[in-house]
Amino acid sequence: EYILGPKVSDWDSQRQEWLSRHPEFPSRDARGSPRVLLVTGSPPGPCDNPAGDHYLLKATKNKIDYCRLHGMDIVHNMAHLDPELTGYWSKIPLVRRLMLAHPEVEWIWWVDSDAIFTDMAFELPLSRYEGRNLVVHGYTDLLFEKRSWISLNAGIFLLRNCQWSLDLLDAWVPMGPRGPSRVEAGKLLTASLSGRPPFEADDQSALIHLLLIQKDKWMEKVQIETEFYLHGFWTGLVDRYEQMMEEHHPGLGDDRWPFITHFVGCKTCGRYEDYPLERCLRGMERAFNFADNQVLRLYGFQHRSLVSAKVRRVTDPRANPLEAKEAALKMDAKFQRV
Ligand code: UDP
Ligand code: MN
Repeated sequence: EYILGPKVSDWDSQRQEWLSRHPEFPSRDARGSPRVLLVTGSPPGPCDNPAGDHYLLKATKNKIDYCRLHGMDIVHNMAHLDPELTGYWSKIPLVRRLMLAHPEVEWIWWVDSDAIFTDMAFELPLSRYEGRNLVVHGYTDLLFEKRSWISLNAGIFLLRNCQWSLDLLDAWVPMGPRGPSRVEAGKLLTASLSGRPPFEADDQSALIHLLLIQKDKWMEKVQIETEFYLHGFWTGLVDRYEQMMEEHHPGLGDDRWPFITHFVGCKTCGRYEDYPLERCLRGMERAFNFADNQVLRLYGFQHRSLVSAKVRRVTDPRANPLEAKEAALKMDAKFQRV
């Protein structure tokens, strides 16, 4: 049987002991918040088309921006750490390795490459997640009543650095190894989950299946997030950004100003997709510029429109730079409070 790596069974005490021996690596940041490591990744080779690589770069820049503004570290992985776990399964061994390599990190935050931060002011409500170890966007009724294969989105999740999470990864991974076992598991998942097309086992369906068959074992520590778009499905969002800019402001994170716009079904880096490539790229361009405006504003610039890479100056270049900085901070503080 496949295993992720040498069994670790006393991680909580090992980690605690390490933390007490290394006060120079505190598990909380300067503001007292639990330390979060944002993790993303992309395939080892180039995309099938150059536009895919361009949008991968934009999505990566967007994540770097979000992390810088919120004092977070970021990992971008391009290696397949385990030859058995390729594609969407590659996040599982990666998240596990990072947990063990970074005992100082409290939360590992996996974010798919095709997810774009569209609310640069929104911050994770980490204090609400005390007592929870996995946070994922979804709908409880779709999960337990409909057994829907899209009841949760596994493209973005927070996993606490603890023994429970290592155990979850062990329980999550068995359908992952490529070859006949992944194909057979795919048939089982399509038969048991509603709406799932026939294809090999994917990590999202495997997680949903696990939580359904072992509800009592895991759900107590799982937070299904519905209050803001930890994952926001792109089709309903990308055409409304102008309207959002007129009516609302950053910092809300929900349907009024989505935290994350996720291009599910686009596969702009690969060959197959559920939506036309042009429509995906147009949406990504708009999401990127919408987010980038929130970054450029701090430096006195704006995109000419959400479909333009060109920018224009929006503040008086002669203005006192520190006055501009104070104004930016005040605006951000306002976004935070709402
Ligand atoms: N991924 C990776 N290496 C790969 C393939 C995928 O790191 O070789 C990551 C990438 O961040 C991607 C995520 O895994 O967004 C999910 O993979 P999927 O094939 O579902 O891609 P998506 O539809 O999210 O683009
Ligand atoms: Mn994705």
